[in-house]
Amino acid sequence: MPTTQPGGKVLVSGANGYLAIWVVQTLLERGYSVRGTVRSEEKGRYLKEYFKPFGEKLEVVVVEDISKPGAFDEAVKGVDAIAHTASPFHSNVEDPRDFYQPAIRGTVGILESALKNGTNVKRIVVTSSTAAVMDPPSKPTTFSEKDWNMGSVKAVEEKGKKSEPMEIYRASKTLAEKSAWDFVEKNKDKIQWDLTVLNPPFIFGPPIHDVKSLSALNTSLQYWYNMVVADTPKTKESLSGSSSWTDVRDIAEAHVRALEKDAAGGERIIVNGGSYHWQDWIDTANSIQPSPIPSHKLPRGVPEMERVYLINYDKTKEEKILGIKFFTQEESTRDMLADFERRGW
Ligand code: NAP
Repeated sequence: MPTTQPGGKVLVSGANGYLAIWVVQTLLERGYSVRGTVRSEEKGRYLKEYFKPFGEKLEVVVVEDISKPGAFDEAVKGVDAIAHTASPFHSNVEDPRDFYQPAIRGTVGILESALKNGTNVKRIVVTSSTAAVMDPPSKPTTFSEKDWNMGSVKAVEEKGKKSEPMEIYRASKTLAEKSAWDFVEKNKDKIQWDLTVLNPPFIFGPPIHDVKSLSALNTSLQYWYNMVVADTPKTKESLSGSSSWTDVRDIAEAHVRALEKDAAGGERIIVNGGSYHWQDWIDTANSIQPSPIPSHKLPRGVPEMERVYLINYDKTKEEKILGIKFFTQEESTRDMLADFERRGW
């Protein structure tokens, strides 16, 4: 199937988000035109201002409710490819339906619109997550694209509104991604585009989206700030979590490569920069001299603590198809700290 190439136009949903604005920037720098969707005119203004040097190459359209049938019918017209990133990721959720509706309906809806009106569309990249791959394990485990996190779906089925917000989030990502693959299977004789799904772990790295205050920071970066910079108690227990991460700029690059590389069509790809233990980030932050954040005395954590890396991913497919050269922990840490210092956080 022919893939998307610079000069083409790409629709990016949720373009004002932490990850999506980096996707928009990477596309514009690579010579693409972008049509970004946002939920309100106001959210679009920042984007137009931020990307002013690119002029008419960036178009911003309002899609108020991505769950509504036909929400993307107009937005898909005339674009060559789609990157669907919009989906709720925060902990302010009680009813699973509040995540399931936009995550699942938003994903299926954009595919339906592409089937109906996306006559030029060649490739659709959906941003899923490793939340759709792994159910947090109790012993070190290496997951691959063959794994599906059905544990969170079952847990939310059982617990309903009593579910933990992150359990609801993980289940929403599993169900949304499954719905996308089901849609493609059901409509394989009718669609002229193919689907690629990217599964990133935690995304860290400097923000360029519109963040007016520290408390308004997106979920993953807020988490990193609280663990590495905030002056809150750091004990063996509070630091014991380990997971995997990728720099936001690498995930943005992965979206562009996923649009361009023929071999990415029809694939689910885990894009993992590496495993981490929270104490690693704290050690890295303290090791950078001179400090990129001199206004803070950074926490030291518990440097001598034993570090168990519970969550690992098979990188074979990503290396073969996308071949990202990932940012290191030190590079990402330096850039995040310098950004926080500049903002006075
Ligand atoms: P973010 O900054 O919160 O951006 C989320 C985007 O989705 C925003 O544009 C937001 O619009 C939109 N959105 C959220 N809820 C919505 C709803 N109910 N209806 C319509 N739009 C909605 O989050 P992010 O970290 O960039 O996440 C982007 C994507 O990456 C998501 O699909 C997420 O699951 C995935 N991901 C993130 C991470 C991570 O660690 N950050 C890791 C793996 C995968 P508003 O600004 O208007 O709310």
